Formats: sequence, C-alpha cells, structure tokens
Amino acid sequence: RAKSEGRARFVVYSAELDADPAERFDLDNGLRRAVERKELQLLYQPIVDLETGALVGMEALLRWNHPHRGVLSPATFIAVAEETGEIVRIGNWVLEEACRETARVQQLRPGLPLTVSVNISAAEFRQADLPGRVQRVLESTGLEPHALTLELTESVLLHDTAAAMASLDELGRLGVGLALDDFGTGYSSLSYLQRLPVDTLKVDQSFVGRLGADPTSGPLTRAIVEMGHALGMRVVAEGVETEWQLAYLREIGCQLGQGRLFAGPLASGQFRRLAASLRPAAAWGPLLRAG
Ligand code: C2E
Ligand code: MG
Ligand code: MG
Ligand code: MG
Repeated sequence: RAKSEGRARFVVYSAELDADPAERFDLDNGLRRAVERKELQLLYQPIVDLETGALVGMEALLRWNHPHRGVLSPATFIAVAEETGEIVRIGNWVLEEACRETARVQQLRPGLPLTVSVNISAAEFRQADLPGRVQRVLESTGLEPHALTLELTESVLLHDTAAAMASLDELGRLGVGLALDDFGTGYSSLSYLQRLPVDTLKVDQSFVGRLGADPTSGPLTRAIVEMGHALGMRVVAEGVETEWQLAYLREIGCQLGQGRLFAGPLASGQFRRLAASLRPAAAWGPLLRAG
C-alpha cells in the first residue's frame, strides 16, 4: 500500500486506503493545501489520428506531488476530494491550467490544431455554475471553445437527468466539445445515448487492453466503435499499448487513440517539445511503422 511503498513514483488505488479513516483524514488535510502549495500538476497525454498519424490533441491528467508519498494518481485522491467538496477548487485549477497551457502551445505552434480534454467528476458537474465557470476560463485564457472538450462518465450523467441535460446543453451552446469517458463500463441505454448532446465516445481501456487476448473483446470493441459512428460521434480508443491493438483499431475504423504506444502522460515541457518538433499533420512513429 501507499505508505510502505515509500518513494514509489506512482501509487495505484488500493481498497485499503479507502477503508482507513486516518489515511482519509491525512489526504483530506493535505489536499486542502495542495493547490496553494503548488503540489498539483497536469500531465498531457497525446491523442493521435490513427489514420494519418497526426497529433490532434491531448488529455490533461492530474497528479499530486505529495510531499511524503511521491506522485499520487487521481485514483487515490479524487474520491476523497469529491466527498469533502475540495474537488471544486481542484477542478477550477485544472480547467484554468489546462486551457492556459493549451493556448500557450497553440501560440508556439500556430499551424497545429490542438484540442485539450479535461476530466470532470460528478461533484464538479453537479455545480450549477459549471457552464459559467467554463465560459470565464475560456475568456481569461483566450482559448477557443472548440479547442476544449470536457470528459464525463456515464455515471455522472445518469444522476439528476434534467439538471444534467440542461448543463450539457448550455456547455454545448458555448461551443465546447463533450466526451463520454470510459464508455462500455456503465449502464447507459442506447436511447439515452442518442439523446445526449455528446460528440465523442471514449472506448474504455479495459476493452482495448484485452484486444487479442480474449475472443469477445474484438467484436465488442468493433460494436462500440460502430455504434459511436452511427450516433455521429468521434471515437477515441484509450490505452493503446501494442502495434497489434493499433492495427486492429485501424481495421475497424476507429479514428482516434491514445496510449503508451504513442506516449504516456507527459509533463508540459515534454509536451511542448513534442508539439514543437512535429510538422503539422506529421505521422507518429509507431503509425509510420504500422502503416
Ligand atoms: P481516464 O480519464 O479514463 O484517463 C485514462 C487513464 O489511463 C489515465 O490514468 C492514463 O494515465 C491511463 N493511461 C494512459 N495510457 C495508458 C495505456 O497505454 N494503458 C493503460 N492501461 N492506461 C493508460 P490516470 O492519469 O491515473 O487517471 C485516472 C483517472 O483519474 C482518469 O481516467 C480520470 O477519470 C481521473 N482524472 C484524471 N485527471 C483528472 C482531473 O484533472 N480531474 C478529475 N476530476 N479526474 C481526473
Ligand atoms: Mg478521461
Ligand atoms: Mg477513460
Ligand atoms: Mg478511467
């Protein structure tokens, strides 16, 4: 578990942590100060056009550089932050930082059309003023609305449907993109999906990760991709790790992907260097080999 791992660079979620009130208290206390102490950091994972190999955007992924525990994954602290409400302050910081950084990268590389995806958790989404906040952040950072996509999970949308729909519609009117994250792990019905003003479907990495390993993951992934396209959505495969998975995804017409095959989550400096080194629409290394 996290404590005994000491200097571990990366700590995965453990159910034990969840159950230990002292740990929760500790995390909660630390989180309250994390924003002021600048212990939070965003990493950026490239999102790639699987057909052309072009870099089309990135997903902002949060890390907490904990003073004693090393780098913590959001899986260890988002749930606590949601319970205490601290997620709202953290989410504000994430949104602003991601938009500011994306505007900066766009300035460095004007020819490179990049969109940034920001994860929004349930408690943030339930806030009545989310669309207003998003609008203010776009104005203050100068980022075009269409360059921002908000990622939501099915569970976030299933509660409180009327308010959720109103919020989604308002965000849609602002011109920001909306993505359904971890798709395939929740319980949305097809008719519900059809009514959602969502433009992107993200195939959960558990499907992609099992491609080739079990006989049903391939057909299931294909069905999800085709369903997304039937609904007029863009489809992003998460967790692409192997050339084999890439070849399969291209074969079934999945347009977009992200995963360690291309790059893991990168620090902003690394991402900037990557963006600066790419010619517009230049193909990504693994795609050149695969294509
Ligand atoms: P997610 O949005 O589904 O993010 C994808 C996760 O897959 C990330 O984990 C990413 O690091 C990981 N990943 C990337 N490439 C690969 C790969 O090739 N294989 C595999 N197996 N995994 C890969 P991460 O960064 O630990 O984030 C976990 C979850 O935490 C995210 O899932 C998202 O739900 C949440 N999260 C991350 N950042 C934020 C944030 O700023 N705000 C909120 N509210 N939630 C966040
Ligand atoms: Mg996501
Ligand atoms: Mg996901
Ligand atoms: Mg996830």
